[in-house]
Amino acid sequence: MKEKLLGMTLEELRGAAVSCGLKPFVGTQLADWLYSKKVRGWDAMTNMSKASKTALSERYDLGTEAPCGTAVSSDGTKKYLFPVSSQENTGEQSAIEAVMIPDDDRRTLCVSSQAGCKMGCRFCMTGRQGFHGNLDAAGILNQFISIEESRNLTNAVFMGMGEPLDNYGAVSRAIDVLTAPWGFAWSPKRITLSTIGVIPVLRRYLDTQKCHLAVSLHNPFPEERLEMMPVQKAYPVEDVVSLIRQYDFSGQRRVSFEYTMFAGFNDDKRHADALIRMLRGLECRVNLIRFHKIPDFPYVSSSERRMEEFRDRLNNNGIICTIRSSRGEDILAACGMLAGQHLQHH
Ligand code: SF4
Repeated sequence: MKEKLLGMTLEELRGAAVSCGLKPFVGTQLADWLYSKKVRGWDAMTNMSKASKTALSERYDLGTEAPCGTAVSSDGTKKYLFPVSSQENTGEQSAIEAVMIPDDDRRTLCVSSQAGCKMGCRFCMTGRQGFHGNLDAAGILNQFISIEESRNLTNAVFMGMGEPLDNYGAVSRAIDVLTAPWGFAWSPKRITLSTIGVIPVLRRYLDTQKCHLAVSLHNPFPEERLEMMPVQKAYPVEDVVSLIRQYDFSGQRRVSFEYTMFAGFNDDKRHADALIRMLRGLECRVNLIRFHKIPDFPYVSSSERRMEEFRDRLNNNGIICTIRSSRGEDILAACGMLAGQHLQHH
């Protein structure tokens, strides 16, 4: 398989040009077309000679790939499906998804980092699919480039399929391209990485990147959290919070905690009070999330009233807490759903 240009650094693109007998500036032109202008094919690269393109394409693939399906919600949320054929994968049939969420003047892309996931969270459809492979940096960046809104995106969240810290080589490379002046030139403030808390890799992320962090917390009590999230055994959430306390979140970088509300599981005063104790003094925000029921899973979402009470209890005790609005429910934009259906159809 040919090496992909998408995902390469400027230096690597310049090196790729040289390896094809071309001048290094052709690599700079490639970075401009791929990352700044976000074109998807050789034909659009109008200032490059045909000979340069032929030499490059004999050795390299651009790495762009069109979506294989889309669905648009009545609220404007749009879901794209991409095949995983060109990505490092286990050879099984699979698809990954990217969800574009418009909100006033923001257009946020929810990005996948893996096909499926190894982490096995019980409430997650992606987790149920099992693991089908890591995306490479091209597979991650392609979600930004090969969609209709590619030039108008304002924000990105690594919150789609997969655990980004379980594929951190590709994820950090993609973030480097997104934030480099020769790349997309995005401010790190436009990007949030969401994780269940893979501690050693989380430390690396916090040491080397400046993007925001979201942590899937879901329950402050270790034994209860373990019921839903096997990761609690290897990386207890108490240790994740201790690690986060070692970093400064009072400036540009923010940390939030995701808390999906399950009726009768994690939504009473006992949980709210434990959460308040756990997060006291930390500059952070808690996002409460409605749960979209999935088959063969005993819990349903907490009621609106219960969620509001929980939110108010946190806010009254100095923890900023909001209820996240649900988007794209009519196209099953909830984690893993459309890709799950896609899998069943093949
Ligand atoms: Fe993986 Fe995230 Fe789903 Fe857990 S919630 S199984 S980490 S995709």
